[in-house]
Amino acid sequence: MEKIAVIGAGTMGNGIAHVFAQNGFQVCLIDISQNSLDKGMATIVKNLDRMVAKEKITENDKKETLERITTATDLAEAVANVALVVEAATENVDLKLQLFKTLDAACPPHTILATNTSSISITQIAAVTQRPDKVIGMHFMNPVPIMQLVEIIRGYNTTDETTATIMNLSLQLGKTPTEVNDYPGFVANRILMPMINEAIETLYNGVAGVSEIDTVMKLGMAHPMGPLQLADFIGLDVCLSILNVMYDGFKKDKYAPCPLLQNMVMAGKLGVKSGEGFYDYATSRKAEIVSKQFS
Ligand code: NAD
Repeated sequence: MEKIAVIGAGTMGNGIAHVFAQNGFQVCLIDISQNSLDKGMATIVKNLDRMVAKEKITENDKKETLERITTATDLAEAVANVALVVEAATENVDLKLQLFKTLDAACPPHTILATNTSSISITQIAAVTQRPDKVIGMHFMNPVPIMQLVEIIRGYNTTDETTATIMNLSLQLGKTPTEVNDYPGFVANRILMPMINEAIETLYNGVAGVSEIDTVMKLGMAHPMGPLQLADFIGLDVCLSILNVMYDGFKKDKYAPCPLLQNMVMAGKLGVKSGEGFYDYATSRKAEIVSKQFS
């Protein structure tokens, strides 16, 4: 396949660029913020270093992977000759609709436009383009270099051909693609987010503290990490956006985001990426901080 563009160098975008480049694809990583690009590239280097240290890849693999990645802030120029765009910009409907209009105008007609959105309708995004048959959800999981699943979401007009291309591409990345239909939250977040929201509601109601809730779910349900820690890793702003999309889409109270989650996002406590969420990542490793408000 020709070159691939990844839009957004944040939590997900740098991981997606890393995985494509490590599997031999030329990648252009694009962001409106040079600072995000610098941070994204630093994360890729750090993750590759960790893989070298664990002897999963060689120093030369790392060097070649990095050589396959370029960065850009000028979107139109960077996507002019790509076969695939994977959009991983901020989870915001208006932003994504505007981006896909721009991409549709700037990309060649054969380019497939994939989005890593966690919850926004693929059909709605596709409708702003002249190529709804070539718009698809390619939903990677966090952290991308480690997680096996790619949830492949077919919009209303996505063709079998586009779906087959993206399923095969995911296999080439060493991932396991799973095809689902386009309804709010798809499958992964429709099941995950109500659990995270309920964990936050449990904390909000004073039933238990942060570490108690996470311990119950880790040791009692054999989850690798508790729901509050997982929310910190995903980003509390991302969790809030996904819940709002499901709340709007289904009009059911069970998806209404907990007031504590809304407060934390308004206060800028977004989890790992801001240094503080349910746990404190800035000063000490994973010291819980939210419980004190409810003790
Ligand atoms: P993030 O906030 O970490 O990064 C978003 C990046 O997009 C930022 O670097 C920002 O500068 C950039 N951006 C914003 N507008 C842009 C534009 N117009 N053009 C180019 N870049 C732009 O967000 P994230 O957590 O990486 O999420 C990205 C997407 O992936 C969202 O759609 C989210 O729902 C989805 N997703 C997130 C997770 C997760 O665990 N965080 C998991 C799966 C999917």
